[in-house]
Amino acid sequence: MPSIFSKIIAGEIPCEKIYETEKEMAFLDILPVATGHTLVVPKREVLRLEDLTVAEASSLMTAMKIIAKAVSQAYGGVDYNLILNNGPGAGQEVPHVHFHIIPRPEGSFLGFKNRHKYQDGEMRKVGNQIRACIEA
Ligand code: 5GP
Repeated sequence: MPSIFSKIIAGEIPCEKIYETEKEMAFLDILPVATGHTLVVPKREVLRLEDLTVAEASSLMTAMKIIAKAVSQAYGGVDYNLILNNGPGAGQEVPHVHFHIIPRPEGSFLGFKNRHKYQDGEMRKVGNQIRACIEA
Protein backbone atom coordinates (compact mmCIF):
# COMPACT_ATOMS: atom_id res chain seq x y z
CA MET A 1 0.00 0.00 0.00
CA PRO A 2 1.44 3.41 -0.92
CA SER A 3 2.48 5.68 1.95
CA ILE A 4 0.51 8.84 2.71
CA PHE A 5 3.41 10.79 1.20
CA SER A 6 3.23 8.77 -2.04
CA LYS A 7 -0.46 9.69 -2.17
CA ILE A 8 0.42 13.36 -1.64
CA ILE A 9 3.09 13.15 -4.37
CA ALA A 10 0.56 11.49 -6.71
CA GLY A 11 -1.87 14.34 -6.05
CA GLU A 12 -4.40 12.05 -4.40
CA ILE A 13 -4.18 13.92 -1.07
CA PRO A 14 -3.86 17.72 -0.94
CA CYS A 15 -0.84 19.45 0.57
CA GLU A 16 0.65 22.91 0.84
CA LYS A 17 3.42 22.32 -1.68
CA ILE A 18 6.59 24.37 -1.32
CA TYR A 19 8.82 22.89 -4.01
CA GLU A 20 8.99 20.04 -6.50
CA THR A 21 11.64 18.50 -8.70
CA GLU A 22 11.68 15.31 -10.75
CA LYS A 23 12.96 13.41 -7.70
CA GLU A 24 11.56 15.15 -4.60
CA MET A 25 8.73 17.20 -3.17
CA ALA A 26 8.61 19.58 -0.18
CA PHE A 27 5.38 20.53 1.60
CA LEU A 28 4.25 21.92 4.94
CA ASP A 29 3.81 19.48 7.79
CA ILE A 30 0.10 19.29 8.64
CA LEU A 31 0.80 19.34 12.41
CA PRO A 32 3.74 21.71 12.68
CA VAL A 33 6.11 21.80 15.63
CA ALA A 34 6.69 25.42 14.60
CA THR A 35 5.11 27.60 11.92
CA GLY A 36 6.84 26.86 8.62
CA HIS A 37 7.76 23.27 9.59
CA THR A 38 8.45 21.72 6.18
CA LEU A 39 8.94 18.11 5.02
CA VAL A 40 11.29 17.18 2.17
CA VAL A 41 10.45 13.80 0.65
CA PRO A 42 12.02 11.75 -2.16
CA LYS A 43 9.41 10.68 -4.69
CA ARG A 44 10.62 7.10 -4.71
CA GLU A 45 9.12 5.46 -1.66
CA VAL A 46 11.77 3.88 0.56
CA LEU A 47 11.73 3.53 4.34
CA ARG A 48 15.18 4.73 5.28
CA LEU A 49 17.84 7.17 4.13
CA GLU A 50 20.28 4.41 3.29
CA ASP A 51 17.71 2.79 0.99
CA LEU A 52 18.20 5.68 -1.43
CA THR A 53 20.84 5.48 -4.14
CA VAL A 54 23.78 7.84 -3.80
CA ALA A 55 22.36 9.89 -6.67
CA GLU A 56 18.94 10.08 -4.97
CA ALA A 57 20.46 11.00 -1.59
CA SER A 58 22.62 13.62 -3.21
CA SER A 59 19.65 15.06 -5.07
CA LEU A 60 17.64 15.05 -1.83
CA MET A 61 20.38 16.97 -0.04
CA THR A 62 20.51 19.53 -2.84
CA ALA A 63 16.75 20.07 -2.44
CA MET A 64 17.21 20.28 1.33
CA LYS A 65 19.79 23.03 0.98
CA ILE A 66 17.47 25.09 -1.24
CA ILE A 67 14.36 24.62 0.92
CA ALA A 68 16.11 25.02 4.28
CA LYS A 69 17.51 28.34 3.12
CA ALA A 70 14.06 29.46 1.93
CA VAL A 71 12.40 28.49 5.22
CA SER A 72 15.09 30.37 7.13
CA GLN A 73 14.86 33.45 4.91
CA ALA A 74 11.06 33.45 5.17
CA TYR A 75 11.46 34.07 8.91
CA GLY A 76 14.27 36.63 8.83
CA GLY A 77 17.21 34.20 8.64
CA VAL A 78 16.05 32.15 11.62
CA ASP A 79 18.03 29.11 12.76
CA TYR A 80 16.44 25.73 12.24
CA ASN A 81 16.73 22.02 12.98
CA LEU A 82 16.92 19.32 10.33
CA ILE A 83 15.50 16.09 11.69
CA LEU A 84 15.28 12.65 10.15
CA ASN A 85 13.47 9.99 12.15
CA ASN A 86 15.07 7.05 10.38
CA GLY A 87 12.84 4.05 11.06
CA PRO A 88 10.00 3.39 13.51
CA GLY A 89 12.38 2.84 16.42
CA ALA A 90 13.57 6.40 15.91
CA GLY A 91 10.03 7.74 16.03
CA GLN A 92 9.27 7.54 12.30
CA GLU A 93 5.50 7.44 11.83
CA VAL A 94 5.26 7.65 8.04
CA PRO A 95 7.22 4.76 6.48
CA HIS A 96 8.64 6.89 3.65
CA VAL A 97 11.96 8.59 4.33
CA HIS A 98 11.70 12.37 4.85
CA PHE A 99 13.55 15.24 6.47
CA HIS A 100 11.87 17.75 8.78
CA ILE A 101 12.99 21.40 8.54
CA ILE A 102 11.93 23.07 11.79
CA PRO A 103 12.43 26.82 12.31
CA ARG A 104 13.69 27.76 15.79
CA PRO A 105 12.69 31.32 16.66
CA GLU A 106 14.44 32.70 19.74
CA GLY A 107 13.21 31.10 22.94
CA SER A 108 11.47 28.28 21.09
CA PHE A 109 11.27 24.83 22.55
CA LEU A 110 11.65 21.81 20.30
CA GLY A 111 9.19 19.16 21.28
CA PHE A 112 6.81 17.13 19.21
CA LYS A 113 4.13 17.51 21.86
CA ASN A 114 4.28 21.22 21.30
CA ARG A 115 2.08 21.32 18.17
CA HIS A 116 -0.67 23.60 17.00
CA LYS A 117 -3.13 23.54 14.12
CA TYR A 118 -3.04 26.17 11.39
CA GLN A 119 -6.01 28.52 11.34
CA ASP A 120 -8.19 28.72 8.20
CA GLY A 121 -6.15 30.23 5.33
CA GLU A 122 -2.96 30.39 7.38
CA MET A 123 -1.35 27.38 5.72
CA ARG A 124 -1.62 28.99 2.28
CA LYS A 125 -0.11 32.20 3.63
CA VAL A 126 2.82 30.33 5.16
CA GLY A 127 3.29 28.35 1.93
CA ASN A 128 3.35 31.56 -0.10
CA GLN A 129 5.85 33.10 2.31
CA ILE A 130 8.34 30.23 1.98
CA ARG A 131 7.83 29.70 -1.78
CA ALA A 132 8.64 33.37 -2.35
CA CYS A 133 12.08 32.74 -0.80
CA ILE A 134 13.04 29.74 -2.97
CA GLU A 135 16.19 30.26 -4.98
CA ALA A 136 16.63 27.65 -7.73
P1 5GP B 1 7.71 11.14 11.19
O1 5GP B 1 7.24 10.93 12.60
O2 5GP B 1 7.37 9.96 10.32
O3 5GP B 1 9.15 11.55 11.10
O4 5GP B 1 6.91 12.40 10.66
C1 5GP B 1 5.77 12.30 9.86
C2 5GP B 1 5.22 13.71 9.73
O5 5GP B 1 4.26 13.70 8.70
C3 5GP B 1 4.52 14.21 10.99
O6 5GP B 1 5.18 15.38 11.47
C4 5GP B 1 3.09 14.48 10.54
O7 5GP B 1 2.52 15.64 11.12
C5 5GP B 1 3.24 14.60 9.04
N1 5GP B 1 2.05 14.16 8.31
C6 5GP B 1 1.36 13.00 8.51
N2 5GP B 1 0.33 12.93 7.64
C7 5GP B 1 0.38 14.06 6.88
C8 5GP B 1 -0.44 14.55 5.82
O8 5GP B 1 -1.40 13.94 5.39
N3 5GP B 1 -0.08 15.75 5.29
C9 5GP B 1 1.01 16.46 5.73
N4 5GP B 1 1.25 17.64 5.13
N5 5GP B 1 1.79 16.04 6.74
C10 5GP B 1 1.47 14.85 7.32
